Amino acid sequence: MAIKHTAVSYYGFNYVEHAEKDFIEMKEHGCDTVILAITEFDMDFWFPNINNIVKTAHKVGLRCIADPWGIGKFFGGEQVSLFLQNNIHHRQVSAYTGEVLNAVCFNSNSFRDYFTGICVKLARETEVDGFFWDEPHYDAPKSYSTGGAGDDWSCRCPECMKKFEDYYGYEMPKIMNDDVKQFRWREALKTLSDCSKAIKEVNPKLEITCCVHATKNNYYITEQRGYDNWDMVAACPYFDVFSTTIIGWSFPESFFRDITERTANIAKKYGKESERWILGYSSQPEDFKQIDKVVDMYENAGIDRLATWTYRGGYGTIVSAPDPIKLWDAIGENYKRVLKK
Ligand SMILES: [Zn+2]
Repeated sequence: MAIKHTAVSYYGFNYVEHAEKDFIEMKEHGCDTVILAITEFDMDFWFPNINNIVKTAHKVGLRCIADPWGIGKFFGGEQVSLFLQNNIHHRQVSAYTGEVLNAVCFNSNSFRDYFTGICVKLARETEVDGFFWDEPHYDAPKSYSTGGAGDDWSCRCPECMKKFEDYYGYEMPKIMNDDVKQFRWREALKTLSDCSKAIKEVNPKLEITCCVHATKNNYYITEQRGYDNWDMVAACPYFDVFSTTIIGWSFPESFFRDITERTANIAKKYGKESERWILGYSSQPEDFKQIDKVVDMYENAGIDRLATWTYRGGYGTIVSAPDPIKLWDAIGENYKRVLKK
């Protein structure tokens, strides 16, 4: 068993010389990869600087992966969305209430064109090594690990309703049935699969990681957020790495183990590399030795890659860990320990 890559995410495309110092600090913390959280504003405003930042990461010796962070509120993340600001249509709709939601309908042609356009531009005009699909999800429902339980779901917008009726031959129901589940999985995957294919057509060497929510998905509990059919996601021929997202430090060890073993098994089943995440912001373990134990568990389960959100424990942000630098240092010690082997 060996950890092949150790990544950390990074915000900010302002000044190359500042980024260089941060990248050197990442190297010193045992990272071999930086995941750039690229926002719609960065693409719109800081684009000339993005490739300079990528080249600087390479110069320091880091691989560099683009994360279209929170675009359209389709992916995870705290930042705002220009697509939502600039469009009053193409939003998700609640099935039960008919309310328009604060998230794009990623099954719409409009958003698919917009999103693929951003990624293809990055693939063509920068030297990134790959892309990271960061917790893609339908806006509702969510339950168990990421929010309150509920039966409502999305998306029942006019575009989804038309597609559903064209395919199944009846009006999209308000109660989620098996056809709705299949429709949601299929359309959600199509958005990422088509974009990944377009990226590979620009450069087949660009690697694609798909990171889905770390959920139970058993007979009793599933989040139904569009990417919870792990077999379907991992089977996508354009994805190279199957990844599952962060688990809070207060969750029981058995939950960490369950998610980790299932992640490794699914990745192996479809010939992909596996990745597990470490919570490096917002909260921290009561005993920092828990980080060592979790990293050992990941390695022993045959996980190929480790990744942490985020640089310096979120220092200076509203989602900082209580002791951000201490947490960052503890994760760095673990990265150095496992990458050494
Ligand atoms: Zn829709």
